[in-house]
Amino acid sequence: MVVRVSAGTQKLLGLKKIRVEAPMRMAYLMVSEGRCTYNCDYCTQARSAEGKEDRLSRVVWPRYELSEIVTALKKPDLEIGRICLQVTSNPASKQTALALVETFSEASFPISVSIRPETADEVGKLMDCGAERVGIAVDAIGEELFARVRSGSFGEHINLLYEAAELYPGRITTHAIVGIGESDCDLIDFIANCYSRKIGVGLFSFTPVKGTAMSKIPQPPLERYRRIQLARFLIEKDMDNIDLLSFDDDGNLLPLKELISDNSSIEASWRTSGCPDCTRPFYNERPGHEHFNVFV
Ligand code: SF4
Repeated sequence: MVVRVSAGTQKLLGLKKIRVEAPMRMAYLMVSEGRCTYNCDYCTQARSAEGKEDRLSRVVWPRYELSEIVTALKKPDLEIGRICLQVTSNPASKQTALALVETFSEASFPISVSIRPETADEVGKLMDCGAERVGIAVDAIGEELFARVRSGSFGEHINLLYEAAELYPGRITTHAIVGIGESDCDLIDFIANCYSRKIGVGLFSFTPVKGTAMSKIPQPPLERYRRIQLARFLIEKDMDNIDLLSFDDDGNLLPLKELISDNSSIEASWRTSGCPDCTRPFYNERPGHEHFNVFV
């Protein structure tokens, strides 16, 4: 059995000596037994994506034998807080993911699994095998947008997300991508709905990657991303903060900064969000450019 290991995780696990300018306590692993059954327009693992299969977003994920990873995870001086297992959606990957979660759960690190499940039963099987959290990415926020860039029903997908959150309170995460055609208003509404159900929200900036259908679309303006980050942070802290948010007639979130006197809150809002210990270094960021998700 093989597992893909993110470039930075190779260093974290002592598999390769490389320079990674990012603090990491999360071991990022990926199961991709061939391309995904789905065809999300922004995804390097999508059915019709072109180019090498060793990428997820900007990051390269070389293959390793599972036995090498299991041995590496037993090293006594590892500074790992959690394992994050990304699973592409095809039957073989999903089956392998169950076996991997079972194997890794012996290493006594909490495990997060990021997957596109079709039923709550699939989520339950992962939990039963030892997953501590399951991430059900929604990514594209809005009925028409979801159908266009991810295919399938937004309504059914979020109903599954909410059902999982009811079954496993505090153990479900989701992802939302900023910059693929959603409105701020829909995005904030989704974020608030998630936190009211104890679903953690990991924000991503859309990142064009070669070989994907959206490779020519630019990243969103950083200023807009910062506004959404601050709104997410405030909602996570206190649902009542939703009253601080206002929108223009086109559904754009109005600047919030002047409402927050505490600079440390503003800076904290820029940090990578999602599961505990997630820094996701360079998923959206190009070295040498200002980071969308700040991890240092
Ligand atoms: S379901 Fe996930 S892995 Fe599959 S194409 Fe969509 S984003 Fe990529």
